[in-house]
Amino acid sequence: MSENNLSFPLSISIDNQAAIQSGEGFYSRPGSYLADRFRRMMQKLARDHPDFDITIRWVPGHEGVHGNEEADKAAKLAATGKQHNSPKTRLPQYLRLESLPLSISALKQAHHKATHSRWTRMWSKSPRFTRIQQIDPNTINRSFLKLTATFPKRLTSMLMNLRSHHIPLNRHLHRIGKSDTPNCTHCPQSEETIHHFLFECRHFHRERHDLTNALGHKASSLSFLLTDINAIHYLVRFVNATKRFKTTLGEIKMPVPRTI
Ligand SMILES: [Zn+2]
Repeated sequence: MSENNLSFPLSISIDNQAAIQSGEGFYSRPGSYLADRFRRMMQKLARDHPDFDITIRWVPGHEGVHGNEEADKAAKLAATGKQHNSPKTRLPQYLRLESLPLSISALKQAHHKATHSRWTRMWSKSPRFTRIQQIDPNTINRSFLKLTATFPKRLTSMLMNLRSHHIPLNRHLHRIGKSDTPNCTHCPQSEETIHHFLFECRHFHRERHDLTNALGHKASSLSFLLTDINAIHYLVRFVNATKRFKTTLGEIKMPVPRTI
């Protein structure tokens, strides 16, 4: 039907309530450009035809409206394959393009998905991956992000450093040329590893007392200290009390206050 042979009053029956309700507002959901087209078309008709009179009514499931039943059949047939598409010359101008406009939200979603899988691929090849997996297999999914969502930035970064072993203790500092020795300043026979600092170094015996008192035997599990919210509080307390990272990481702030 072309604009020239329209006669008013005209009645349009639609079985989609959402489509009818969308009539007034602009919105950016997928497929909204069709509603926009329709709205613009109506505005043009109203301008061009003094007797413009259109009623849009809702009919459940096209029942009893011959034209709609035919349209429904044609739509179902078209969905079965390209060979049933209408010839382009019979389509309105804006539907003759090779592909329909993409919706912004669909584009965003596709971009997000592609970025995420690229990051996962790169991450799984990185040397840190295996080491971190041993501590918490959930590191690369959302659990770490969820755990640290409300943490101060410095705390999150300390936890990441502890997980990746890139922490300013002599063992690591020596490896990157920032310390003359890999050994502990207080225990010349032992390398200052994370394990040594957290669990062994006798110099911090007193500071470690709170940690072991509160957490029992679990206080000697690195993976527990790095993943349990309650344990993280005691870990922060211990780290600050030792002042070992004071000049490098600074004072570590506690997670959002909670009772422990
Ligand atoms: Zn030591």
